[in-house]
Amino acid sequence: MSQRAGRPAVPLVPAQRTIASVGMEVNVDYLGIRVMDLAGTMLAERVEEGDFRASDPTAVLARLAGMYTEVVGPVADEVPSVGVCLAVPGLVDRITGPLRFAPNLRWRNVDVAGLFTSAAGMSGVELLLGNEATLAARAEAAALRHTEIRTFLYLSGEVGIGGALVVDGAVFAGRHGWSGEIGHTVVDPAGPRCVCGSTGCLEQYAGKDALMRGAAMDLALPVSALISAAEIGEAGALRSLADGAAALGTALANAVNLVDVGTVVLGGIYAPLAPYLLPGITAQLQDRVLSAPWSPPQVLAAQARDYAALSGAASVGLAQVTADPSAWLER
Ligand SMILES: [Zn+2]
Repeated sequence: MSQRAGRPAVPLVPAQRTIASVGMEVNVDYLGIRVMDLAGTMLAERVEEGDFRASDPTAVLARLAGMYTEVVGPVADEVPSVGVCLAVPGLVDRITGPLRFAPNLRWRNVDVAGLFTSAAGMSGVELLLGNEATLAARAEAAALRHTEIRTFLYLSGEVGIGGALVVDGAVFAGRHGWSGEIGHTVVDPAGPRCVCGSTGCLEQYAGKDALMRGAAMDLALPVSALISAAEIGEAGALRSLADGAAALGTALANAVNLVDVGTVVLGGIYAPLAPYLLPGITAQLQDRVLSAPWSPPQVLAAQARDYAALSGAASVGLAQVTADPSAWLER
């Protein structure tokens, strides 16, 4: 509470269930939809697992449209919806433009918004597109808004690895919105071929598939299986996580040397894996970040868990309302 003289401030709390916004995600091993209201309450959600490596965009987006009808339909009858934003694991050209490249989906130059809105019942839906890691970092920045941590490097671990630089609470997007592709920074030029066409990218050492493969586990298993194996001290799992952590730490050290951030936040699958990754990552940062003796970078597990990109995507529509409420009320 303010200690200043005068009438005490009345905290504003947005009314629940007045305005809803929809966040969606196409990722390599799941599709998701989350509906949230202005107060941040989740009104509806569905996540369907699947294998979308090298998938057909038309079929995947038609399935997502079907989910939209079933999940958003009943909510939209009672709460007006202000926006729909879809998170994708790739390079989005401008916010409503085509998806240029999503390496793990093998989608190139796909008009995602056009395909989605041409599915049955979706005409009239205004779809915004965003990068998965950028939107997850947005949710993390919101979760950390009452803390000292306003500038950080966010890492989103899935089958692919995304990243985002958050400066004073806002994601630094880069010239085209394509910044943060830490998954395709090089760990070893002589390393294995990556889905992007290059060799030795971080993703090939520390993405979910790489971690599962290193532990000799089925790639289709959820990351919770790897955590269970690590918890009982299974040597292959622990070795795979240590190798992944060393690769992550190396790439992160390069990034931290370049941008001078004090905090690295581990999101996506790296949040629950943090206890096993932190020692290896921290060791690399200590050894390789030039400024570490005076200001060692801290590494934290993300606060925004459970499909953070869905919350970040839903927040895009809500932010348009809070930025200019009168424009929305006139509609
Ligand atoms: Zn790559």
